[in-house]
Amino acid sequence: MTEAACIVIKRAVKSYGDIRALDGIDLEIPPGECMALVGHNGAGKTTLIKLILGLARPTSGTISVMGQFPGTSGFDTLRCHISFLPEQAIFQGSLTGRETLTFYARLKNAPTQGLDQLFQQVDLLEAAGRKVSTYSNGMRQRLGVAQALIGNPRILVLDEPTTGLDPDSRARVYAIIEERKADGVAVLLSSHALTELEARADRVAILHHGRLRACASIPELRKHAGLIPELRIKAGQEQMSALARHFAQCIEPCSFVNGVAVLNCPPRDKLIMLREILNLGLAIDDISLAEPNLEQIFAAYTDRTPAQ
Ligand code: ATP
Repeated sequence: MTEAACIVIKRAVKSYGDIRALDGIDLEIPPGECMALVGHNGAGKTTLIKLILGLARPTSGTISVMGQFPGTSGFDTLRCHISFLPEQAIFQGSLTGRETLTFYARLKNAPTQGLDQLFQQVDLLEAAGRKVSTYSNGMRQRLGVAQALIGNPRILVLDEPTTGLDPDSRARVYAIIEERKADGVAVLLSSHALTELEARADRVAILHHGRLRACASIPELRKHAGLIPELRIKAGQEQMSALARHFAQCIEPCSFVNGVAVLNCPPRDKLIMLREILNLGLAIDDISLAEPNLEQIFAAYTDRTPAQ
């Protein structure tokens, strides 16, 4: 992957005095991939983003972005290819949306024509002539996303891009990411919104206390963590008792939560267990198989129990 990767991080360490904000990070992001960066508060996500953008230097190790080292003079020529959306984008309220994007386009040395297309993409075309001070929080956030898209960057670094957005706008942001990915753009997306990352991230990098605990696709993370899918069966009281009796000797434990029997179901046993349940001839209201979600995966890699 190293040859083609847009971002290559090798054994990166960043210390602030006694604090090791990052401790030996190895990471590569190829073109066309969306990598989610997740971690608890203080895990080191912002520090890693700062190193990639050249806003801080690693204490040791190397960061290479499109073949250049952030923070060095050669890197300046690349800046227009790397876009960053900060967690809380702050804009000048007295400027209109259009003036704001024009300002950023000039800063990035990008054409100031075609900005309407960006407004359209983030559903702000009608508000483009209004002062930013009259925008709602969600509108400001969408203006931030439009700002990040100026000049067709090859790398998008997005810090919590969907914060404060309604479901339609969230879907719109992810659709834009998909579109850019298809065009070969590498996307690094830092987020605490684990549920919405599930179907969207190609790989997830889990940072914990400055260390990279894992970096893989969600199915791979699930497999390596040894997390087992759950078979959930909804039925009446009598059926529950019968299920409890039947599965009492089972190797995998069975629990009952809010009238639902939850059976650990290793993938290889799926059909066997389903057949066994059907053979019991019980009246069952519903049955479903739930794969461990990203919150459970995250908890497994960071040694915590997911909040219920
Ligand atoms: P959050 O989700 O809260 O934004 P984060 O994962 O982005 O957290 P960082 O901001 O990268 O975490 O911080 C990682 C660690 O480095 C924390 O312990 C933090 O206190 C420390 N740190 C970050 N910047 C500095 C600094 N300039 N000086 C000293 N310590 C710092």
